[in-house]
Parts: sequence; C-alpha cells; structure tokens
Amino acid sequence: MRIQVIGGGIAGASIAYHLLKEGHEVTVYDREDQGQATCVSAGIISPWVSQRRNKVWYQLVRLGAAYYPEFIQELESLTGERTGHRKSGAILFFKDEEVLPKAFKRITDKQAEAPEMGELTYLTKDQQQAKFPMLTTEFPSLYLSGASMVNGKQLRDVLQVAVEKLGGEWNQVSSPPEPSADLTIYCAGAWGNEYQQNIPVSHQKAQLLHFTIESDDTFPVVMGLKTHYIVSFGNGRFALGTTHEDTTSFDVSPTKEAQEELMKLAEMYFPGQELKELSMAVGLRPYTPNFLPIVEQISDSLFVVNGLGSSGLTAGPLLGKEISHWVSGKETQLDLSKFTWKEGDGDR
Ligand SMILES: Cc1cc2nc3c(=O)[nH]c(=O)nc-3n(C[C@H](O)[C@H](O)[C@H](O)COP(=O)(O)OP(=O)(O)OC[C@H]3O[C@@H](n4cnc5c(N)ncnc54)[C@H](O)[C@@H]3O)c2cc1C
Repeated sequence: MRIQVIGGGIAGASIAYHLLKEGHEVTVYDREDQGQATCVSAGIISPWVSQRRNKVWYQLVRLGAAYYPEFIQELESLTGERTGHRKSGAILFFKDEEVLPKAFKRITDKQAEAPEMGELTYLTKDQQQAKFPMLTTEFPSLYLSGASMVNGKQLRDVLQVAVEKLGGEWNQVSSPPEPSADLTIYCAGAWGNEYQQNIPVSHQKAQLLHFTIESDDTFPVVMGLKTHYIVSFGNGRFALGTTHEDTTSFDVSPTKEAQEELMKLAEMYFPGQELKELSMAVGLRPYTPNFLPIVEQISDSLFVVNGLGSSGLTAGPLLGKEISHWVSGKETQLDLSKFTWKEGDGDR
C-alpha cells in the first residue's frame, strides 16, 4: 500500500519504520512542532514499577518493554547509529521503611510474567551510594536491575534514518498535503484535534529541569518520591522532572514557578552538589480521558493513533510493529480493538 504518516514523533516514526519492513511504500510528514513530546521525553523504560492497575495498559507497556532490546539492536545495526538506549537499572525511592516490603512484593509479583525486569533488591545506604554517589541517602530504596532508558530525540532521529534507508520518504512540512495515499495514519500527538475533532486528545504541559554535576559516569534512573524522576545522560548531564499541567494552550515557554519547584527538588535529591548549566525543557504530553492510547479507524483510508500519555516511549516501538502487522493483515500480539475509543469510556 501507499501510506502517508502525519506526525514524526515516536508514534509516527515507529509506525513508518515497521510499515516499511512489511514492504509498504511510506511517506512521513512532520511539522516538528516546538513541544514535540518525543524529543524532550525522559525515556525511562520501567513499566513494572508503576502502581497503575489498568490491565490493557499494563500489557501494552510490559510487552513494549520486552520488545525494546530486539527493536534497538535491529535499528542500530541497520543504521549504524546509536539511540542512547542503555540498561541503566533504577533506584526506587520510598517515603519510609514501612512501605518497602509491600512495594517489593507488588513489583516482584510481576516478575514471572516479565523476567526482563531483572532482579529487585533492597539497597543499604552504602550500596545506594556506590551506585550513585551524589544522590541523597535520605530515603529508603530498592534497586531494579532491568530498567533502561533511551534518548527520545536520538531514537526519533535514528528512526528517520532507518525510514530513509528502507526506501521511505521523510518530509519536514509546515502543513501536510491532502490525503492522497491508500491509507493515511494520523499521529499528531498534542496537536491531534486540529485534524480530527472527534478524537478526545488533550495534553499536559510537562517541564523538566536539565543541569550538570561534575562527573564522567552514567548512573541508574531514579524513580523519586511521588512522580519525580531523575535521568542521567552521561558526561555529568541530568534531567529531573516533571510537571503535569493540564492545559489547552500550546505555549511551551518554561515558567518561573516550575523552574523554582524543580530546582528545590534537585537540591533535595542532590544535597551539597553544585548544579550547573541549568536549563528547562518543555513537552506536550498527549493523553485521552482513560489514559489509554487510541488506535482508531476513522474510515477505510484513515487511521488515528494518539494519546500515548506518559509511557509513549515504552509503548511506541511495539505499537508501531503491531499497527504495521494489522495493516498488513497479519496476526497481532495485542488485541488492538481494546484501543478504540467509545464515547463515555471510563478507565478500562
Ligand atoms: C517531559 C516528558 C517526559 C516523558 N517521559 C517518558 C518516559 O520516561 N517514558 C516513556 O515511556 N514516555 C515518556 N513520555 C511520554 C512520551 O514522550 C510520549 O507519550 C510520546 O513521545 C508521544 O509521542 P507522539 O508521537 O504521539 O507525539 P509527539 O512526540 O508529540 O509527536 C507528534 C508530532 O506530530 C507533529 N504534527 C502534529 N500535527 C501535524 C500536522 N498537521 N502535520 C505534520 N506534523 C504534525 C508534531 O510536530 C510532532 O512532531 C514523556 C513525555 C514528556 C513530555
């Protein structure tokens, strides 16, 4: 088939890449809007630690995380480029000792089904310090060995290279052409309503603080208290996030309030450290009312894929593969009908 993909974040890029592998003719049109979620994403792949109970979501992200090593290996060997993916491990912080055994059980209960999560262990303060010397030892912690992270921008760029290598076209456009292919797949993230008003996509403004601390190493991801996290990109570069601001605005300027809030957190997580080269990054996280992605066939020649929410980097590669199989009439691992939108749907 001749297929147009509108939007070149992880959703569109992954769908295009996998469709090309199935032998379709693919053209991507991307506007590269400021605030594209994929480029600023923290890229943490560790779905097993989430407390969210939705089974449809969990199956998607569990299988998404399991697919990552194969996906990255194939992509990097095809292109000869690096995606920044690494098995970082994760330090998980808890507010007090009392909750640790319950959290330990909640996570290890998932291990039989998801061996890729690796080992979960209790950390003493010394063990934690050995893994991440600059980090506070104020909170009790666990360590999950199988957690990983990917650089969203690098991954997107490598997918673009792969799309072109496989014979696809990738166009940066200010507005995409009228649909003229056999099939158009619309993956416009936070901007989804511009095209399809009846798809219930909203967005949150997510602000991250980037900074450096002198060091040459890379460190585990930190899942902090509440929804805080810290990622380490190497060469002393870190990001701490994030805010979850519901908004209808597409303004991606950082705010003073968010910077101050994140700065306080950085000082709490890195006591006594000198934080340098401070800057803010802002992304627009697309989501649906039930926080599940939407894979919706609008007509014979139009699909919408959107609402990847807070776990789009985890789910995006697998979702792309599944959608390409579906479009090609092949069997899928996921039941994609679970991701169609019905008016009045609550959390499933
Ligand atoms: C701060 C932050 C941290 C995150 N951390 C994580 C994490 O740790 N782990 C994880 O799994 N997920 C994480 N996520 C979630 C993940 O990044 C998103 O779910 C995912 O990137 C969404 O991808 P997308 O392709 O749907 O949208 P986007 O990446 O926003 O891409 C949409 C693209 O469509 C283009 N577009 C829109 N309209 C048009 C049009 N008419 N024509 C052409 N192009 C158009 C836009 O310009 C944009 O490039 C995070 C998100 C944010 C914001």
